[in-house]
Amino acid sequence: MKFFLTILFSICCCISAQAQQPGKITLVIHGGAGTITRANMSPEKEKAYRDALNEALQKGYAILKKGGTSVQAVEAAIHVMENSPLFNAGKGAVFTNEGKNEMDAAVMDGKSMKAGAVAGVTVIRNPISAAIAVMEKSEHVMMAGTGAEKFAKEKGLNIVDPSYFYTEARYKALQKAKEDEKVELDHNAKEEKDIKKGPKSGAVDDLIFTEGKKFGTVGCVALDQFGNLAAGTSTGGMTNKRYGRIGDAPIIGAGTYANNATCAVSATGHGEYFIRSVVAYDISALMEYKGLSVKDAANEVVMKKLVERGGEGGVIALDKNGNIAMPFNSEGMYRGYIDNTGKSEVLIYKD
Ligand code: ASP
Repeated sequence: MKFFLTILFSICCCISAQAQQPGKITLVIHGGAGTITRANMSPEKEKAYRDALNEALQKGYAILKKGGTSVQAVEAAIHVMENSPLFNAGKGAVFTNEGKNEMDAAVMDGKSMKAGAVAGVTVIRNPISAAIAVMEKSEHVMMAGTGAEKFAKEKGLNIVDPSYFYTEARYKALQKAKEDEKVELDHNAKEEKDIKKGPKSGAVDDLIFTEGKKFGTVGCVALDQFGNLAAGTSTGGMTNKRYGRIGDAPIIGAGTYANNATCAVSATGHGEYFIRSVVAYDISALMEYKGLSVKDAANEVVMKKLVERGGEGGVIALDKNGNIAMPFNSEGMYRGYIDNTGKSEVLIYKD
């Protein structure tokens, strides 16, 4: 009898030790996809991007390491990129046709499958925090415009003057995009041609082209030590967007999605295509219904379906075991990860 009790006791100890073992914490980020090539990147610019991406990784990872949740880690990593003018989110957001900065953001918690989003906001310093507040402190999933701003203010979030979001580079990009519109058909034809050939480095035209084809949205997916996944995305949308246009980032299932049973996904790219292809949910569905791995599912959607439909961009995706996928069908994508062992990598180009 004593023998059996001893065995039983050891089994119980073993199980509880396993339960308490920290899981595979992992964090993955992106800072946008597009025509990002070595030819149009200076060493200074590359360093600035790498530094900012590394900082975002480290801030998010520190939260996971000290036992924070995946949602908290996503918020911390995205704050770094929202506060940097290098990315098209928060400070550095692109301009609408009317010369404003209108931002979208979303978050999803893979454990509760709750989600929150804001769209077309102009005065919330960190839109990802407003999305989290919608998820955690309201009965709704998405709030837009002045209503979302009123809610954010009521919840004590940081409210700024719209001029806070101004950056000269983005303003110039709007002027260029507007000029191009006068020759819209020609420009489109040129873009088509150049997508196939790749830009010729150095020419002013190519610089314009490069600006127009860069999607600088930011996103993060994380896995915490409790085995819970979360995804978040924050963006200024697309330069020269019109009349209250909302992109894929705040649309749950299109640009942002998380489910502990499958994966967490954040997307960047030409939003209209990502909405129509319900990209993030499609990746999750391929895993759920067809048993695909996160890599195969993400590749199927980004490198096959989206390419066939003409949708340029990429995603970051993470499953509950810490497996990562970061496919993109554009020239480059600012991206990085940090895994359970603390190993981290920041990548920009295709090769
Ligand atoms: N997906 C974003 C949008 O269409 C743009 C981006 O990725 O930068 O609003």
